[in-house]
Amino acid sequence: MSVKKSNKKNKLQLVKGMKDILPDEQNYWDMVRAKVKNIARSYGFARIDTPIVESTGLFKRGVGEDTDVVSKEMYSFVTEGGDKLSLRPENTAGVVRSYIEHGMLNLPQPVKLYYMGPFFRHDNPQAGRYRQFWQFGFEVIGESEAVIDAQLIAISFYVLKDLGLDAEIHINSVGDNNCRPQYLKVLKKYYQDRKDDLCHDCVERLAKNPLRILDCKNKKCQSLSEEAPQMVDHLCEACKNHFMAVLEYLDELDVKYNLNPRIVRGLDYYTRTAWEIFLPSNEEGKLNALGGGGRYDDLVETLGGRPTPAVGFAIGIERVLAKLQENKITPTPAPDFDIYVAQLGVEARKKALKLFEELRQDGLQVTENMSKKGLKDQLDIADKRGTKYTLILGQKEISDGTVLIRDMENGVQEIVDYNKIKNEIRKRLEHKVMKNSKLKKIS
Ligand SMILES: [Zn+2]
Ligand SMILES: [Zn+2]
Repeated sequence: MSVKKSNKKNKLQLVKGMKDILPDEQNYWDMVRAKVKNIARSYGFARIDTPIVESTGLFKRGVGEDTDVVSKEMYSFVTEGGDKLSLRPENTAGVVRSYIEHGMLNLPQPVKLYYMGPFFRHDNPQAGRYRQFWQFGFEVIGESEAVIDAQLIAISFYVLKDLGLDAEIHINSVGDNNCRPQYLKVLKKYYQDRKDDLCHDCVERLAKNPLRILDCKNKKCQSLSEEAPQMVDHLCEACKNHFMAVLEYLDELDVKYNLNPRIVRGLDYYTRTAWEIFLPSNEEGKLNALGGGGRYDDLVETLGGRPTPAVGFAIGIERVLAKLQENKITPTPAPDFDIYVAQLGVEARKKALKLFEELRQDGLQVTENMSKKGLKDQLDIADKRGTKYTLILGQKEISDGTVLIRDMENGVQEIVDYNKIKNEIRKRLEHKVMKNSKLKKIS
């Protein structure tokens, strides 16, 4: 095996398309996770976590062998034992596998599940897009009624609204096995007659999956698609009624939507309702897609279960975070600490370690920085963390069996018996809370 010599002395670095989530960004992530959890709870969704690794066959069968995701973008490998495995590129197939495997069809239907986690796609990294990316998603399995489609669309809209983002919903119907084949024939004929104007990829799509030409990003293909026959004009009676009902519910909920015949989604399993979620981009007139979803009434059966209707959506967390930062939406800072434990000298540090631990286990909001030695440094940190009191342990306090309590508001210090410190500090904290609430009432 030949090893390429690098003049960077084999510096180890982040794999292309991957991203570290650094401490500074974590409060943004916490904010998104908290909103998702919250909205999931109110709509009655239970959390599910499926493994990152699944058998490759699951995605080939579920998502579709000819889709870009499966044919070009999956991280797949063969284990020493010969198992063909893939890092999950999406989660609907995994959730449905789990639904079937754990007999969730015997539970009261529908089963409402949500998830959050990392996914993997080996495509060309672009700004704000990574090869390991996070999504949260919601799935409702075991319900065919249009009201559920509308409710999921509303959730995908409201979860972003709760975060301060005003999303645009673009919606379409992609029909079902009853009406889609007929439409695909008409569509194929339309593009076949204009084959010379299609991009290279779309010539390939024409044979395998003409629907995908509709969402090609190539300018020439896009202008051809503007005049292309639309699925909504070829829906069977049942699909048409379903689509109309979804739109009526959305009107009722005051969720604005755009009918967009080019929303076809990249995966094979979608039937009937398909939608995508956009936000205006920095470039004028352009939109950024944050995610999307749709109905997948055939997937449970395709993966070996009983015929079971289902619908769901997923949203990319990094894309949401980029928008939050672009729109200067900041997370609420973590609540302040009440107490800082400061120490001066070796003996005092030992005692301080123990005191800190006792207060923390007692349920008090306490913080420290044992690597600092000087009092001024420690008081600065205590101040920055918004603490109300600093407990100071020095040589003198150790030999006297006392602690110095410093009120951070006015700098007043008082000596207290070490053994009474917990009660003393609780009393003072309660007193401060009462005083502050009285002040608020007066003003
Ligand atoms: Zn094209
Ligand atoms: Zn139909």
